[in-house]
Amino acid sequence: MKTTMVIGGAGFIGANFVHRALAQSGAAIVVLDKLTYAGDIGNLPQSSKEPRFSFVQGDLTDAVALREVIARFCPERIINFAAESHVDRSIDGPRSFLETNVCGVFELLEAVRAYFETLPATARAEFRLLQVSTDEVFGSIPHGRRSAETDAYAPNSPYAASKAAADHFVRAYHETYGLPVIITNCTNNYGPRQFPEKLIPLALSKALAGEPIPIYGDGANVRDWIYVDDHCDALMLVLQHGRPGARYNIGGGSERTNLELIGALCEALEELAPAARNPAMSRRGISNYIDLITMVPDRPGHDRRYALDCHLIEQELGWRPRVSLHEGLRATIEWRLAQGSSATSMAGAYRGERLGLLRDPL
Ligand code: NAD
Repeated sequence: MKTTMVIGGAGFIGANFVHRALAQSGAAIVVLDKLTYAGDIGNLPQSSKEPRFSFVQGDLTDAVALREVIARFCPERIINFAAESHVDRSIDGPRSFLETNVCGVFELLEAVRAYFETLPATARAEFRLLQVSTDEVFGSIPHGRRSAETDAYAPNSPYAASKAAADHFVRAYHETYGLPVIITNCTNNYGPRQFPEKLIPLALSKALAGEPIPIYGDGANVRDWIYVDDHCDALMLVLQHGRPGARYNIGGGSERTNLELIGALCEALEELAPAARNPAMSRRGISNYIDLITMVPDRPGHDRRYALDCHLIEQELGWRPRVSLHEGLRATIEWRLAQGSSATSMAGAYRGERLGLLRDPL
């Protein structure tokens, strides 16, 4: 049985990838994850119930542990999701972003280089390392333009800079050592299991609790939103058929300003959990979720727009997103409603806390 090693698999996208990969392929999956505040073992299958699944708690920056796990499981594929991933946190404390996102990826490349050299020729031909990266490496893009894979990087936040640095190392290991690596740069993901510090799950938690929904600046920052299952399907395709040394942009084809996005979320929420039947809203005497939107001072260095040109993956691998924004938002809300109040952890309040909104009355 082939084995795929998923680093950072207890986080949002990684966990969705694990569930999808187990359902859609016969491969064994081993997750290596440090379980930071953003990782949740409850996101993952139980290895006692799923014989093809194993979990190892470990740190990407720990070179010895990394080599041991790779030697123990002998993976044909390694996909790296592990990262510090929240831009606000990178502004408040950039060091952990350098440590995990850059030094961690460096340790991974070194461990993979050593492992790759031990493989017989047939296994070398099969082996792939996929680094999951972001559209934020390209910086802010003017309206009317889209970033192609060949465009220069121009990261503006410490988070984006750390991901860009990692991508450069990954590319260099292909050019210098011939490692069969692939990089994917994806737009903003949303869906089940997202940690509630990010915009959509935070807004959803706030709306359900009848609390202010914070939106930075004038709300006109544009992002392209992709439902997480579409991203995971693209990653599986890239792992299977992607060209070693290539980079692929992955986008959702749903560009929205933050105000438009939260407006769409409020509309979908109204369909599934009407404000009139929400006691938290009634207590505050507010009849529309949209009235909870509260503009707050902008984040420093806030990029105005990200947009990717996704022709390469469409033409080369035949991938396109399948889930519309409305369908994806409904699926996300349905998942959140099924979780009940447990989906809003204390740590998840981080973004609201930073914005001074947690205790503020509307
Ligand atoms: P996440 O923050 O939800 O999860 C990150 C996971 O990595 C967690 O399980 C955490 O425990 C683990 N981790 C962190 N540091 C680690 C370390 N030192 N060693 C081992 N594990 C560690 O992140 P996410 O939103 O699922 O994003 C996954 C990847 O996709 C990231 O690399 C991110 O840059 C990239 N990405 C995310 C988005 C998005 O919209 N969320 C978009 C494009 C790209």
